[in-house]
Amino acid sequence: MSLTDIESHDRQRWHSVADQARSNLETRLFINGEFCDSVQSRSFATVNPATGETLAKVVKGMPEDIDRAVAAAKAAFRSGCWSRIAPRERMDILYRFADLVDQHAEQLAVLETLDMGKPIGDVVGEDLPAVISTIRFMAEGIDKIEGSVTNTDNDALHMVIREPLGVVGCISPWNYPLLMATWKIAPALAAGNTVVLKPAEQSPLSALRLAELFVRAGGPPGVLNVVNGMGETAGKALALHNDVAKITFTGSTEVGKLILQYAGRSNMKRVALECGGKSPQIFMADLPDLEKAVGAAYNGVFANMGEVCSAGSRLLVERPIYNEFIERFIADGKDAYVPGDPLDPETNMGPLVDRDSQQRVLNMIEGGRREGATLHFGGAAPTGLGKGAYVSPTLFGDVRNDMGIARNEIFGPVASVIPFDGPEEAISIANDTIYGLAAGIWTRDLNKAMRLVKNIEAGVVWINSYEDGDMTQPFGGYKQSGHARDKCLDSLKSYTQGKSAWFRLEPA
Ligand code: NAD
Repeated sequence: MSLTDIESHDRQRWHSVADQARSNLETRLFINGEFCDSVQSRSFATVNPATGETLAKVVKGMPEDIDRAVAAAKAAFRSGCWSRIAPRERMDILYRFADLVDQHAEQLAVLETLDMGKPIGDVVGEDLPAVISTIRFMAEGIDKIEGSVTNTDNDALHMVIREPLGVVGCISPWNYPLLMATWKIAPALAAGNTVVLKPAEQSPLSALRLAELFVRAGGPPGVLNVVNGMGETAGKALALHNDVAKITFTGSTEVGKLILQYAGRSNMKRVALECGGKSPQIFMADLPDLEKAVGAAYNGVFANMGEVCSAGSRLLVERPIYNEFIERFIADGKDAYVPGDPLDPETNMGPLVDRDSQQRVLNMIEGGRREGATLHFGGAAPTGLGKGAYVSPTLFGDVRNDMGIARNEIFGPVASVIPFDGPEEAISIANDTIYGLAAGIWTRDLNKAMRLVKNIEAGVVWINSYEDGDMTQPFGGYKQSGHARDKCLDSLKSYTQGKSAWFRLEPA
């Protein structure tokens, strides 16, 4: 069923879709165009974080399985069945792929919600439309990437030809399982590469269906392979593989640093990293609309349960409006997100991805209390939700930037409000972090906004909005948030390499 068909599903309908999906889960690896078991027949459990129930035992890929998948991807690349077909043909297959994702939206959406607890309304309203437009955007770009003929001496002709890289290894996180995987596989495939995807072990199910749909769209076997498994075995084997030309990784800064080491220890493969964040939103006293700004503040840190790399988790508020800001945040934000059943389309806050994450976030909240921040609301697991890994939306005020809750990526629904005096102090606090993914600036003074934009160390800056944008906008970080740029045409180009061809011309 397509996106438009499922928009009106109610809670009961989604539960019955979930029951059907549970009885028919595909859990095997997807290699060379078909589902298969792992060499060692091992498995791991994937758990529904809303209930604590085990959804399935998923086939666990080991290094031998990564070898098989990379061999299939290498053979497919070398055969030219994908890399050398006419750009328009590749485009058509990717358009069909996008259409099939739309037609199977019901199945994909429910897997996403069961596996990682994301509210079904978010998957249907945001994630899946973004997945489809990512595939379409990258398909559209295929014949827009041009090489060049350089201006060189009269007796030579020099051109730079853009070619695919070969086998691309994609390692994705669990917070937007389909979308983060698609930000990588769509440009990699569009550029003519073949792919081995290692999804996060917390959310292994939806990517398997995605790969199946690619083959149904006409994608040749071996071009897109999916191997589930643990990061430190399957992910590491992929990143160390000598036949992988590039690893594109989204995940924590800690693991991003390991990926760089693996590349150095193996074949110097290219590495593209999208890592963590601790993004500031700066609210100047002259901001244009307090209600709108506060709305962006709580949406920016409570949406997707705060499990967002670019979450605006540090809210820097200029002192003259500090009290008013906090009062408005409490009035509007306290009940804006209500933890509940993620299969209910009315629910806007599901559980965290698992019990470990829940405990980690609760510990960080406890740390914030101990360090003297003022807890305005939340701060605990909500009651009455069984064994779900829930955490209530939480607001801390009077936070200092040296406190743990301001320095560490919490990856949960926890907002920290930090007072400041004047733009210089705002810049200094905003940049006092190892991260540099995103930032928000709220002011009606264009000059002030521009000065802040120029001085803030972040890859994405929003002015008088937050988490806005479209596919043309590069997404990626400065500093230890990584250096890749997803979405945008540059992303597509980053999955190609330039070959210089120099022709010496015969004398006339
Ligand atoms: P993680 O780093 O623990 O895991 C990410 C992926 O890496 C998973 O597939 C995991 O299996 C794999 N992995 C783990 N150890 C590995 C190893 N030693 N070798 C190879 N692969 C390994 O991150 P996570 O908890 O899944 O995701 C949350 C993190 O992702 C947060 O830090 C968040 O900020 C970041 N993130 C960043 C962006 C971005 O665009 N910048 C987007 C989403 C999430």
